Amino acid sequence: MEEVLGKENVEAVKIKNLKTGSTSELSCQGVFFFVGMVPSTGYLKDSGIEMDKRGYIPVNELMETNSEGVYAVGDNRVKYLRQVVSAAGDGATAAVAAERYIEEVNDFNSNVLQSDKKVLLLFFNAQDNESLKYRTALEELNEESGTDCKIHCVDMATKKNLAEKYAIKIIPSVVVLYKGTEINRLEGLEESLEGLTQYHQLGYQ
Ligand SMILES: Cc1cc2nc3c(=O)[nH]c(=O)nc-3n(C[C@H](O)[C@H](O)[C@H](O)COP(=O)(O)OP(=O)(O)OC[C@H]3O[C@@H](n4cnc5c(N)ncnc54)[C@H](O)[C@@H]3O)c2cc1C
Repeated sequence: MEEVLGKENVEAVKIKNLKTGSTSELSCQGVFFFVGMVPSTGYLKDSGIEMDKRGYIPVNELMETNSEGVYAVGDNRVKYLRQVVSAAGDGATAAVAAERYIEEVNDFNSNVLQSDKKVLLLFFNAQDNESLKYRTALEELNEESGTDCKIHCVDMATKKNLAEKYAIKIIPSVVVLYKGTEINRLEGLEESLEGLTQYHQLGYQ
């Protein structure tokens, strides 16, 4: 299209035949510009947010991107259907997920990182029986002893980012934090109950 024609409203467009180079007028009452199917995500190129080769952003079911706390919704994400109803649904999911994420971050900051007590940060798998036993044993040991440590449980299935942050390779693992700084860690079931008991007798030093 070369030109939109009309006095007050659209009356016609001037179009060009790309094969012959000839132009002609086509009468119409409106114009839709087709802007193409390439998402405008180029500005995210150096952001660390993962994109596919066409520029669409992969997300999980919570609309979370690979970058913690960053969500992608609507037409610019990898998806099957690009329509208004689907974009609005994405937005609702992301809004709720983002609200919960902020609550969790605030809770983690105040109850774990800023705690005056030692915190036993337990990374476990809520679907795994051995992991659950470990969790119960840790809670019992802590309660019996009255060591004044807090336990904060992190389910690896839902908190992958936190597990990555603490470089957790083995489940279950206990990271001992004091005022937000790691002072020790126990990894895996090999070190479990016996090791945990000894460790506990030392006051998680
Ligand atoms: C011609 C056409 C007809 C369609 N017909 C239908 C239909 O009949 N039914 C239907 O359900 N869907 C239809 N769709 C699809 C529908 O419009 C989209 O699926 C929907 O609008 C996607 O919503 P969105 O919020 O993801 O993106 P958009 O609606 O595209 O909104 C993205 C917004 O972000 C802004 N933006 C972009 N880059 C930046 C930046 N860097 N900074 C700030 N803002 C930025 C844009 O200006 C835009 O306002 C049609 C689409 C087109 C193009």
